[in-house]
Amino acid sequence: MRLILLGPPGAGKGTQAQRLVHKHGIVQLSTGDMLRAAVAAGTPIGLKAKDIMASGALVPDEVVVGIIADRIEEPDAKKGFILDGFPRTVAQAEALDALLKQKKLNLDAVIELKVNEGALLDRVATRVAQMRERGEEVRADDTPEVLSNRLASYRAQTEPLVDYYSERRKLATIDGMMAIEEVTEDINKVLSAVAEADSARAAKRASGKKTAKRVAKKAKPASKKPARKAAKAAGKVAKKGKKAAKSAGKAAKSSKKTAKKAKSRAAGTRAAKTRAKTRKVAKKAAKKSAKAAKRLTKRR
Ligand code: AMP
Repeated sequence: MRLILLGPPGAGKGTQAQRLVHKHGIVQLSTGDMLRAAVAAGTPIGLKAKDIMASGALVPDEVVVGIIADRIEEPDAKKGFILDGFPRTVAQAEALDALLKQKKLNLDAVIELKVNEGALLDRVATRVAQMRERGEEVRADDTPEVLSNRLASYRAQTEPLVDYYSERRKLATIDGMMAIEEVTEDINKVLSAVAEADSARAAKRASGKKTAKRVAKKAKPASKKPARKAAKAAGKVAKKGKKAAKSAGKAAKSSKKTAKKAKSRAAGTRAAKTRAKTRKVAKKAAKKSAKAAKRLTKRR
């Protein structure tokens, strides 16, 4: 699951994100926490962000987009994440869209916690006063003065995201002024509805695929039929041709035989004729020699 919690500072995003982490086993990615850690560690990003944060203004887009791009690559974010405090500008939202698209990841929902700014300022003022009374350290950007700057930044730069995500049909708005438990309940209802809609869409896609498969299956034999018929007919023709060729071969063979026979018969006749002629010549010669012998006897 991939979620965005949207809302001004003090709306309770951090508290609700923690509850979602426990319920869904996904990570909370808070750019505010990451920047504070960078400030505490004195990294180049921290040094760049320190004064901006203390004034209640926004850190440059490329800095936070870079932080998030690296963070969602980490193994613990593979199962899903809750973005808390990011995106805060339309440019950041567009960068996130591109990032998710590139990674073929889907954003499930954007939950806006709607609060009353006046009530928020009162809340912070009371809390800061109590902390100071107890001698506790107050965050530099958690004073009523800085808070009003942060609220102004929210209105000018972050509130346009309400339209951005509502146009993309991702937005659900919840009353952030309710008790923490009630807000959690409403968030869970939204997430259940999103999950239901997702599984309905998946089922529809699957049944669409099945129908398409069925139609394709039905269409296949129909389109194959004529081809099969033609192949069968062609086979028959070929068979007939083969038969014809065979019988032609046989005929040729027999006519060859007949010719041979005729030839030999003719040859036989010719030989007989020669033999007869020879017999005739021999007879003649015998006759002649008999006559000559007779004449010789007579003379003696
Ligand atoms: P947060 O704890 O989320 O209220 O953030 C504290 C401060 O960190 C903000 O007032 C900003 O100065 C800075 N910050 C946190 N997230 C962002 C962000 N997405 N874009 C720009 N600045 C941010």
